[in-house]
Amino acid sequence: MGFFDKLKAGLSKTTASFMDKVTSVMGFRKIDEELFEELEEALITADVGAETAFALVEALRKETRARGLKEGHELQPVLAELISARLGEPAPLSYNPAGLTVILVVGVNGVGKTTTIGKLAHYLKSQGKRVVLAAGDTFRAAAIDQLKIWGERAEVPVVAGPEGGDPAAVAFDGMKWARETGADVLILDTAGRLHNRADLMAELKKVRNLLAREVAGAPHETLLVLDATTGQNAIQQTKLFKEVAGVTAIALTKLDGTAKGGVVIGIKGAEDVPVKFVGVGEGMDDLQPFDPQDFARALFGSHEA
Ligand code: GDP
Ligand code: MG
Repeated sequence: MGFFDKLKAGLSKTTASFMDKVTSVMGFRKIDEELFEELEEALITADVGAETAFALVEALRKETRARGLKEGHELQPVLAELISARLGEPAPLSYNPAGLTVILVVGVNGVGKTTTIGKLAHYLKSQGKRVVLAAGDTFRAAAIDQLKIWGERAEVPVVAGPEGGDPAAVAFDGMKWARETGADVLILDTAGRLHNRADLMAELKKVRNLLAREVAGAPHETLLVLDATTGQNAIQQTKLFKEVAGVTAIALTKLDGTAKGGVVIGIKGAEDVPVKFVGVGEGMDDLQPFDPQDFARALFGSHEA
């Protein structure tokens, strides 16, 4: 299966829900104010979020006037265009042009951080990068073991310390190992405990300071992992982690199991952090660089590839 087909298959529940809720509103009827109001409602229930739904429908009203549209079905391609425009261009990973690239991975428990790191390691390796992983989630032994298993699968080395150890120490060892072995990319896992914001912020700050001291410009990417099945919570988490961790990119996981994929549009609309990867399954190949145009097409169940 090609990338686009896999995305389309992964998004099938979202597409069905989007078609059911959003596309159906634009069916066989004349365009009027009632239609716009129903459409805004529909976008909200499709997890696009109130702010973004409002802005999209506003833009659609304008386009309707500008283009002299009359029939509901004429709106669908225009809405698809507006959504693609809002999502913007694909945003590639930022690399350190001068040496080791450090990617710090953050997010709450269970969203798919460790799994995404494994898949990302595999993806980067396929791009010819030499990758090292560091097990910075020292909270549970199981988290360290899980990363080691992904390291074996992706055939990349994993640097780990003892359970309960200092994540900053693991980050330090990871960087040392990465430099000594001439690796291109270091990916650092972290714990997602959210028992209190001050603790989380302090821990991430300590790690960030250490990374910055050791490698110029590090972390070059702070990748927030979000679980698409949580819908609007994903937008809340983006707000929080932007504040405590300086997030620069998002990986949105579990798009395969959810009807809430519309949240991609909401995240981009409300928080303006680029979604750089999407997860569409638990396998090693189930992480894809996010292509906004493919996403918009898949959302409307488009058949052209
Ligand atoms: P962490 O606590 O953030 O490190 O989350 P994990 O990486 O341990 O993942 C939690 C669960 O989500 C695991 O069972 C993963 O297999 C699953 N998972 C992660 N990404 C995806 C995805 O894209 N699709 C699906 N279906 N499951 C995923
Ligand atoms: Mg984990």
